[in-house]
Parts: sequence; C-alpha cells; structure tokens
Amino acid sequence: MSKAPSIATPVAPMSHPLPSYLQANNLGPWGVYLQQVDRVTPYLGNLSRWVETLKRPKRALIVDVPIHLDNGTVAHFEGYRVQHNVSRGPGKGGVRFHQDVTLSEVMALSAWMSIKNAAVNVPYGGAKGGIRVDPKTLSRGELERVTRRYTSEIGIIIGPNKDIPAPDVNTNEQIMAWMMDTYSMNQGSTATGVVTGKPVDLGGSLGRREATGRGVFTVGTEAAKHIGMDISTARVAVQGFGNVGGTAAKLFAEAGARVVAVQDHGGTIFREAGLDVPSLLRHVANTGTVAGFAQAEVIANDLFWEVECDILIPAALEQQVNAGNAGRIKARMIIEGANGPTTPEADDILHERNVLVLPDVIANAGGVTVSYFEWVQDFSSFFWDEAEINARLVRIMREAFAGVWQVAQDNKVSLRTATFIVACKRILHTRELRGLYP
Ligand code: NAD
Repeated sequence: MSKAPSIATPVAPMSHPLPSYLQANNLGPWGVYLQQVDRVTPYLGNLSRWVETLKRPKRALIVDVPIHLDNGTVAHFEGYRVQHNVSRGPGKGGVRFHQDVTLSEVMALSAWMSIKNAAVNVPYGGAKGGIRVDPKTLSRGELERVTRRYTSEIGIIIGPNKDIPAPDVNTNEQIMAWMMDTYSMNQGSTATGVVTGKPVDLGGSLGRREATGRGVFTVGTEAAKHIGMDISTARVAVQGFGNVGGTAAKLFAEAGARVVAVQDHGGTIFREAGLDVPSLLRHVANTGTVAGFAQAEVIANDLFWEVECDILIPAALEQQVNAGNAGRIKARMIIEGANGPTTPEADDILHERNVLVLPDVIANAGGVTVSYFEWVQDFSSFFWDEAEINARLVRIMREAFAGVWQVAQDNKVSLRTATFIVACKRILHTRELRGLYP
C-alpha cells in the first residue's frame, strides 16, 4: 500500500497548463491579478508550493437569466458567480450589475475578495458575482425579476455557510432584500444570513452602508500620519460618487479636507475652494449624477487626473489609473476605494514618482468587515449599536493597516505587495493545514 503524502508534499508547479482565458497575458482584470500573485510569490517561503491554488478559481458558475420585460418580450442576460477560494471559510463578495461585466472580471474580483478577507483576517474565502445588464435601462419590476431569477440560478452554490453575496456597483439594499427573499422562498425558511448589506429592518447592520467609505477614510488617516500629511488641510479628488466615493468624500470633508474635484459617469466637476459635499450628495440623490451641480465648474473628464490635490480616491471601476494618466497625477497619496483601479504599469510609474498607493485589498476592506459583523449578528439574532460597529471597524482597519505597513517596511515593498504577502500567507497556511481531498 502506498504511503499517504504528508501535507508538506510539494505539488508540481503546474500539473495542467492554464487555459488561455486564465493566463496572465490576457490583460483583463484577471491577468492583472495573476501578475500581482507572481510579484508576491518570492516572499511566500515554503508556502509558495501551494501558490497555484491562488491562480485558479475554485468554482465558476455561468447562468442564463431570462425575464419577461414590461413590453411583453423576453430578454436574456448572462450572470456569474465565482468562488475563488474557500480555504478560510465560506465565499464572500458582492454582486455587480453592469453592462460590461465579464467572467474574467468577476474572477478577478472574487480573487481580490480572497486577498481582502484574509488581509483583515475575517473568516471568509473570496467570491463575487455579476450580471451583464445595464440596470438603468430596466424598470423597477424588471430589476426585481432579474435579481430574483439570478438568485434562484446561483442558489445551488450560495448559502449562509457556503457563499454570502453583498452589494457592489449598481446593487443596493433593496436588491439584497430581494435576493434574501428569493433564497428564503426556495429554502422554505427565512435565511437572513445569505446576503449582507440588507436593509436594517431585515437583519442588516447599522453602519454597513457607510462602512467601505469609513474604511477608506480610516486607512487614509493612518497613512497620512506616516507621511506627515495633515488631513485637515488636504485637497481631495474623488472618482465615483456612489456608496464608496460619496461616503469617503463626506468623511474627509467632515475632517476639514477640501474635496476639490469629483468625477462620475455623468462628468467631472471642480471647485478650488472645495465642494459642498452634503449639497452634492443631495444633488446626486435627486438626479443620479454629479453633472449639473450648480456650485462648481465643469472640467473635461481627462483633466480630472491632473487636478492639484494631495489625495486621489478612485472609487468607480477597474483600470482607471493607468499608464496613460499615472504620470500626470499630482496627489501624494492614492486610496483605492474601487477594486482594481490601478494597472500594474501605473503602479510602477507611481512608485517611481513616490506616490503612496493604499491598495484596494486593504483600503476598501471596511465594507466586508461590517458585512462580517452583519453575518455574525444575523446568526446570533442580537444586534449591536452603531457606535460599537464603527469602533470595531476602525480597530480592525487600523490593526490590519499597521501590520501591512510593517511588512512593507521590513521587505522594502509596496503596500500592495505587502498586503498580498500577509493575505496569501494566511490563505496558503490554511490550505496546507486542510490538505488535499482525497
Ligand atoms: P456605486 O454604484 O454606488 O457607485 C459607482 C460610482 O462610479 C457612481 O458614482 C458612478 O457614476 C461612477 N462611475 C461609473 N462609471 C464611471 C466612469 N466610467 N467614470 C467615472 N465614474 C464612473 O458603487 P460602489 O458600491 O460605490 O462601488 C464603487 C467601487 O468600489 C467598485 O469598484 C466596487 O467594487 C468597490 N467596492 C465597493 C464596496 C461596497 O461596499 N459598496 C466595497 C468594496 C469595494
């Protein structure tokens, strides 16, 4: 009888070549993620023998989402749910509704969730979902039908102990409520813990809506101390004025910073003396965009990247900071509210220009941290007050950021590589402890 291999048995570097859509030269978001893993591999020591695990999603589901439109016709949309890694716990990550969503993008976003969840040490693996649809073209009824059919289709792989979706671009508390209800109907009992980011009256958590922006503000404030920047006099430019960008802008403005430029899908606005953020938030709530805000001047979208500022917060979509604009950015610090906003080429340019980049995988982890609190509260059916939630969030973010900062100093690497070092070691350590089945 052959001896069972020990957990220390090395695996072949690549037992089967990666298919083309998984390869690093496919420079969509997934290719960017693979390059980031390659950069960190030399720092993983013995655990690097397991690194192949990080280069393939564990499970990827593509679903057809047919719905009746209000005009009586039937429309089909493509939906995805990807579980990148579940070594540390159930999959966790948002659901994006956007016309440009692709499987490659969802794979990358799921992988970044694995890294992020490990970086702040919440007991989750990484997952993400999406539907290729522009929700702005749908009526409320159509949006509900798309959400419910998608939830039903991915219902075979999600669940409170398996994989827990949350909001992302163009999804919100109402969509989480429909997802929770659909899953619960199919199960035959109410399962509030199947999604996070729900309305507070349905098992949601206080503080969840602002959590990602609050995390962005917290790590930004901590980093500012290290580089001697005074937040109360800083000028801030924000791309994306939704959940993340809007909240981050509000908190920076409350701390005294001047929010001088904001860009969203509708255009770019600028005000040297600082925008009135509460008024701008009201304007966006009423009109859906920053465009048309009276107390600001309009500037060309491309000029956004050249605005004189100390802090730049990309909080919209991927690959916005790229080789084409990284050389023109004036900020001393970039806080990645969005997932994957900076390309590897831009990372190198910014590093050379001494611009400090606080990477997504730590900077925007506040959302999933409070999602974790929501999930815990749902299981125990005992809800905390907002002050407790915010205090716990700030503590976790500060501790995680301090750890990452130290690793960056010790290894003389960027904060992105340092965060990947911390996170990949945690994931691969659990991988090694669990071993391979069978
Ligand atoms: P949202 O839908 O609330 O807001 C998105 C914003 O981006 C809007 O202001 C929109 O106008 C803007 N935008 C869209 N296309 C644009 C374009 N081409 N140019 C400029 N602006 C554009 O979404 P959100 O939840 O705030 O998410 C924003 C980013 O933050 C995404 O990358 C998301 O993955 C990431 N993120 C969100 C959370 C969360 O808790 N919501 C957590 C972590 C990371």
